[in-house]
Amino acid sequence: MALLPIIYAPDNRLKLKCQEVHEIDESVCKLMDDMLETMYAAPGIGLSAPQVGDNRRILVCDVAREKEAPNPMKMVNPIVVWSSDEIFVAEEGCLSLPKHFAEVKRPKEIRVKYIDETGNNQEVAADGLLAACIQHEIDHLDGILFVDYLSPLKRNIILRKMKKLKRLKEAA
Ligand SMILES: [Zn+2]
Repeated sequence: MALLPIIYAPDNRLKLKCQEVHEIDESVCKLMDDMLETMYAAPGIGLSAPQVGDNRRILVCDVAREKEAPNPMKMVNPIVVWSSDEIFVAEEGCLSLPKHFAEVKRPKEIRVKYIDETGNNQEVAADGLLAACIQHEIDHLDGILFVDYLSPLKRNIILRKMKKLKRLKEAA
């Protein structure tokens, strides 16, 4: 396994609509393993392929708490097939926007269809934090960041700070 460099916003590669995966081959399995390792090292609870520069509809997540057993999930071509009217508000962050957090409203419960690493179709129900995490990661596959849900004012403050951070990193 290998740690992958995470792309920071603003970056055009985070604004693309990702491509469906047609075959679960070794490259898909390796990418998901590397994404999980990268996510745990960050540390984070979710990571999508475009955040590591891959334009395929793939995400990984694990919302287990520190003292719980790890519960990694790997999803290819995930689709929300049902979502509740009830709303859940969570403070979200993003490995592509480090140190920035904001409240985002999303459906509290969802059902998601996806393909697993063995090529089988799966359907899973999620609520609360897991539902928010999966919706956040699926958004990435459509080029949407959590800051896109904020007011233009709040979004611009965060993106300006990110631009500054990136300039400092490049200069270092
Ligand atoms: Zn994110």
